[in-house]
Amino acid sequence: MTTHRHIVRRVTGMDTADGAGVKLKRVIGQPALDMLDPFLLLDEFRSDQAGDYIEGFPEHPHRGFETVTYMLAGRMRHGDNHGNTGDLGPGSVQWMTAGRGILHSEMPQQEEGLMWGFQLWVNLPAADKMVEPRYQDIAPSAIPVVHPAAGVTVRIVAGELAGETGPVSGISTAPVYLDISLEPGARFELEVPEDHSAFAYVFEGQAVRIGGEAVARSELAVLSRGPKVEFVADGHSRVLFVAGRPLKEPVARYGPFVMNTPAQIHEAIADFRAGKF
Ligand code: FE
Repeated sequence: MTTHRHIVRRVTGMDTADGAGVKLKRVIGQPALDMLDPFLLLDEFRSDQAGDYIEGFPEHPHRGFETVTYMLAGRMRHGDNHGNTGDLGPGSVQWMTAGRGILHSEMPQQEEGLMWGFQLWVNLPAADKMVEPRYQDIAPSAIPVVHPAAGVTVRIVAGELAGETGPVSGISTAPVYLDISLEPGARFELEVPEDHSAFAYVFEGQAVRIGGEAVARSELAVLSRGPKVEFVADGHSRVLFVAGRPLKEPVARYGPFVMNTPAQIHEAIADFRAGKF
């Protein structure tokens, strides 16, 4: 058994639009990679053309999973039908456990300039799909920054590294969510829970060698199981690294509802129409 994870699959994002026409790249949740249990979707939105994002994501429902928004640039305002609001600025994270259901909107708070970030969907286990909705709104200053090796800077949104623990807590799938910056010549060995599903997405700079193989910018590498991941950078690079405990449960999925059976999807649609969110 090798201890280092290697690349088992590569995917590049598919151009699409969501919400009221926000242009984005769908990396997970598209024909080339339907899901990576427990991850259901990964979108990267990046544009400095206001027309690509200005209409935002008006009110829409979610049930049965979690949405994680990580802003790199720009500002969005979040609001839901329970009266929760939040300001998502550069470097901030919102980890929303939709649970039994919410109606929310995410709208740009700028009319020009760069809007850049990620949205990840994380599935909930059957036992937790109908929990009360919960928000973890994380300010940039609450995200620990560590330097686990020379030329390596990591922001820890979730998980543990170099004696620090990310602020996101109490998530069923025990996620690791890291923003890893690498300088030229940096080498870094990351320890991860051995049986977690994991992916790395290079979102800035040059290719990174992961488990010995180059991963280009805008490419997502799905990794094998194992306790360690090795990163080697030739130039400056930035990588989103995410891992989570696979649920290994049936998935019934219809737009913003992700349940275990078709009957539960029908129930979600009926509850939504009846105003029970
Ligand atoms: Fe949403």
